[in-house]
Amino acid sequence: MDRRAIPLIAGNWKLFKGPGEAVAFCSALAVRLEGLAGVAAVVCPPYVSLGAASAALSGSPVRVFAQNAHWQETGAFTGEISPVMLLEAGAVGTIVGHSERRQHFGDTDDTVARRAAHALETGLDVIACVGELEAEREAGRTGEVLRRQVGALAAALGPNERLTLAYEPVWAIGTGRTATPEQAQEAHALIRGLLDVPILYGGSVKPDNAAELLSQPDVDGALVGGASLEVESFAAICDAVAGG
Ligand code: PEP
Repeated sequence: MDRRAIPLIAGNWKLFKGPGEAVAFCSALAVRLEGLAGVAAVVCPPYVSLGAASAALSGSPVRVFAQNAHWQETGAFTGEISPVMLLEAGAVGTIVGHSERRQHFGDTDDTVARRAAHALETGLDVIACVGELEAEREAGRTGEVLRRQVGALAAALGPNERLTLAYEPVWAIGTGRTATPEQAQEAHALIRGLLDVPILYGGSVKPDNAAELLSQPDVDGALVGGASLEVESFAAICDAVAGG
């Protein structure tokens, strides 16, 4: 089935849930989502919880992605982890280029593209994040920023059936200030014109706003932070968009 026909809901756990909590969460999530059709669910635990999460989800359609991946398979890169290691740990995909990686850990358009390229070559699915800062939006520079960020990915990758983009306006992440459906649609349409792959929206997605955001023609799913940390709110988002 065409992936775009099924919304993807990915939960980015950030720096939350070690292996014990991950097992409890994933076991409960598998039961809660059992039989739910018309939505693809992904959880993105911290590295140390990937194995525990994937074991707890074995037999469930919920997939496990990492939150980042390096562009080399091995080498002198202290603190990094490579796609081949992620596969061995039980992940089948990874996020790259999250704004928190760009803001706090020095990721650039170039390193994000290199991370994405190597992860795809290694066989992982990739969710590559883009999005403008509040000051950039206020200065009318949203389009310019998205063209630069997506352009770097498009130049390095081109369309790929395992590549998904996430539009995450930085001012909407963890702030409760969700983009309006119209703002999301406008950005997604621009991005789609640059790289025609599925595009998730991220930024304060909750059970009560998910369906409206995903009703936009170019919004193919959601990348969810805070609301993915409780089984019930993550599952309620999946319920709200399933088959929508
Ligand atoms: C995120 O972490 O990618 C995110 C969108 O967070 P939140 O849903 O909490 O805004």
